[in-house]
Amino acid sequence: MLKRRFAQHLLIGSGILQKLVELAKIQPGEIVVEIGPGTGNLTKKLLNTPLKKLYLIEIDSEMIEHLKKIIKDERVVFINADATKFDFSFLKEKNLKLIGNLPYNVASLIIENTVMHKDLIPYAFYMVQREVAERLISENSWLSIFVKTFYEIEYLMSIPARFFIPPPKVISAFIKLKNKNFKEISDLKDYKNFLTKLFFQKRKMLKHKIDKAFLKEANIPEEKRVEELELKDFLSLYFSFRRLK
Ligand code: SAH
Repeated sequence: MLKRRFAQHLLIGSGILQKLVELAKIQPGEIVVEIGPGTGNLTKKLLNTPLKKLYLIEIDSEMIEHLKKIIKDERVVFINADATKFDFSFLKEKNLKLIGNLPYNVASLIIENTVMHKDLIPYAFYMVQREVAERLISENSWLSIFVKTFYEIEYLMSIPARFFIPPPKVISAFIKLKNKNFKEISDLKDYKNFLTKLFFQKRKMLKHKIDKAFLKEANIPEEKRVEELELKDFLSLYFSFRRLK
């Protein structure tokens, strides 16, 4: 039984699943985490790679029970948990490669949680709504800046709705996040807080939202709006904010 509340749209089609796994370029010995394995279609393809360990994080306990019955592989660890809140340090591993056909209703939260654990996650490969992928890559939002500060985002391919059961209303996209190893910001909650405040009422000119001293220090014209800034401006502004505060 598929559950709408968990946004269960299963990927079908051996060819497409194989393609996604190839794009993730799993190397011998790698530790992989699959988010939302569902009925295990992608999981089975992942197990054909030379990965060392595969953690499955799935919120639906019925799905977990089903998976335990059909997947018998010593490399697999089943975890019944919510990936939007999951603490990846709990796995006691480093260098995790994340992959998943994400539940679209909480895809942004899962991406945010991925970034929160960036020190453990060099790569993530996610299926999301195409619109979400495009907005992350080319529009300014607190989340897109938050992700792009720490990861390069690459659009790998589009996937039509007919490859899913039931078909979602939208076209999907498979994206890659590659860690930039940017170490200058360590308090990610503070940085998120700064960005979400900055993006509140985003049509307003910056001079009406923040003290001009910060803008001056960061070399940003007062009349600009948050939508017009580039990644480097957000960083300068954040650093001047931290310094002058
Ligand atoms: N990977 C499978 C299923 C994808 S559908 C396939 O491609 O066939 C999304 C999956 O994520 C479902 O199994 C759903 O139960 C699970 N899910 C939904 N919300 C979740 C959450 N917060 N944390 C972990 N898994 C979740």
